[in-house]
Amino acid sequence: MHAPCLRLSLLLTACLMTMASDLAGQAATPEPIRYTVRFAAPQTHYVDVEATYPTDSRPDIELMMAVWTPGSYLVREYSRHVEDLTARAPTGTLAVEKTRKNRWRVATDGAASITVHYRVYAREMSVRTNWVEAGFALLNGAPTFITLVETDVRRPHDVALSLPAGWRTTMTGLASAPDGAPHHYVAPDFDTLVDSPIVAGNPAVYEFEVGGKQHFLVNDGEGGVWDGPRSARDVEQIVRATERLWGMLPYEKYVFLNLLTEAGGGLEHKNSTTLMASRWATRTRERYRSWLGLVSHELFHTWNIKRLRPRELGPFDYENEVHTTGLWMGEGFTSYYGDLLVCRAGLTTDDEYLRDLSAAIKGLQTTPGRAVQPVSSASYDAWIKYYRRDENTDNTTISYYTKGAIVAFLLDAKIRQATNGRQSLDDAMRLAYERFSGSRGYTQAELRRTFTEVAGVDLASWLRDALDTTKELDYSAALEWYGLRFKPTDPNRQPKAWIGADTSVDGGRLLVAEVPRGTPAHDGGLNVDDEIMAIDEFRVRPERAQLDRRLESYQPGDKVSVLVARRDALMHLNLTLGEEPAPDRWTLEVDPDATDAERANLRAWLNGSEPDARTAGRGAL
Ligand SMILES: [Zn+2]
Repeated sequence: MHAPCLRLSLLLTACLMTMASDLAGQAATPEPIRYTVRFAAPQTHYVDVEATYPTDSRPDIELMMAVWTPGSYLVREYSRHVEDLTARAPTGTLAVEKTRKNRWRVATDGAASITVHYRVYAREMSVRTNWVEAGFALLNGAPTFITLVETDVRRPHDVALSLPAGWRTTMTGLASAPDGAPHHYVAPDFDTLVDSPIVAGNPAVYEFEVGGKQHFLVNDGEGGVWDGPRSARDVEQIVRATERLWGMLPYEKYVFLNLLTEAGGGLEHKNSTTLMASRWATRTRERYRSWLGLVSHELFHTWNIKRLRPRELGPFDYENEVHTTGLWMGEGFTSYYGDLLVCRAGLTTDDEYLRDLSAAIKGLQTTPGRAVQPVSSASYDAWIKYYRRDENTDNTTISYYTKGAIVAFLLDAKIRQATNGRQSLDDAMRLAYERFSGSRGYTQAELRRTFTEVAGVDLASWLRDALDTTKELDYSAALEWYGLRFKPTDPNRQPKAWIGADTSVDGGRLLVAEVPRGTPAHDGGLNVDDEIMAIDEFRVRPERAQLDRRLESYQPGDKVSVLVARRDALMHLNLTLGEEPAPDRWTLEVDPDATDAERANLRAWLNGSEPDARTAGRGAL
């Protein structure tokens, strides 16, 4: 072979490659699915959807509705809310056959495209489901949009909303359609559509710019009660603090959909979030701080889990559970930074932050399930444990939010200590983002190696103990680094008798709600749903406070007979009262003997660090 031939063959190859990429380019932008969304009678909680699907000349097409919403790990069977599904082509009505609980096969009669109508009942007030009423609508992608069953096709999904008279606004993270028509949006693929909830109605919209990017706070239901301008100012401060940590904002616009519906919760998306809160929350500091923490948590997810994610969490299988052992990072580390960044934004005091952290530590250390399930397997079981809570949950598992956040706190301190304050978990998060964000995701081993690399000491066995075993966490080194301590027990505190069961009052009955393992109630055979009627043959009236007062008349170690009604049968249970744990046992405070260096460490942690040359320009693993 001689050179000219070689050049020719190279040219041919290049030419073929160009053609191939052109073909791939064509394949990458297939015909969109077009949805028209109407609210014919929103007061009945229905949304009407008309969807036009290209058939690619197939004799029939298979359609699918997702069974779960990414970020919320429970199969929710959204197709149960679908009704009146019909299909037609220019030739007339088409045959529709249900092929699975969430799938439909539609004959095409040879048409190039077919149109399907269906209605969706929308009355579940949560951040992952739908709600439609006379005044507004929240539509999530998974429970609303039936899509084509196809693999490896990145098909645009086009959504036009037709609003009822009197509704003026739609807000979503979706991009506006090229025609610029109001309420007309386009998603480059189904994943983006599912990841972009839509709010329609007449919400108050506040706009601000950070880092050259537009941000919108969309408050629906302010009702003259919620302080909109203040909330917008504070959200802006949280965005600024979060941008300082990461060094950039990875989106073109970001939309906070804040529904003041007296519900709770938040759900993360790539460039938006849905939040639910009480409209009264701006009126009291604790509730407002809790909302700010929610805002911060969901915004942090924009990086951690939406872009920097375990490999398993994308692309999603919308019809089956997707398991990961990594939610201690995805949710736990997000919880840690959610609160910390509200503090760094100057919206909570250091004392308030330490109080929140103390509450999380107490939550972990008083949950018996921490001795049963490691946090990595609690993450794997999210679908069957965290999202299916029952009276025994605290005995059998641990929240990956809570333990993950505490592991983040300890790991942060560990990295700071190992590098004498030169590096922190902030640096490790930035490095992990630089390496693993994007389409591939990280493996658990890659992530853990990154922590070790930033710390400069081998953290493998510490991480294994903290994440993959039920060994108790050791707080001493972290507290020492920051000059903190757990509040000493008050030497004058009188020991209080204790049974250890959680109770509730229902219909005039004092009922046992939970029986934590290792408590006198557990050892003495008290059961969930037992009605506590008397102690030592004296009536205990159905008030929680009365039970506490009665127990004050006893000493730890006393033996008592508890009269309970269990499924209407009366019985006596013999209990040995324990001693109530000191309520301040896990309360952090600054050690009065803390050195100046330790106090400086505390300041460096609570003030945060910005990205610098130390982490810039590292090579990829
Ligand atoms: Zn979260």
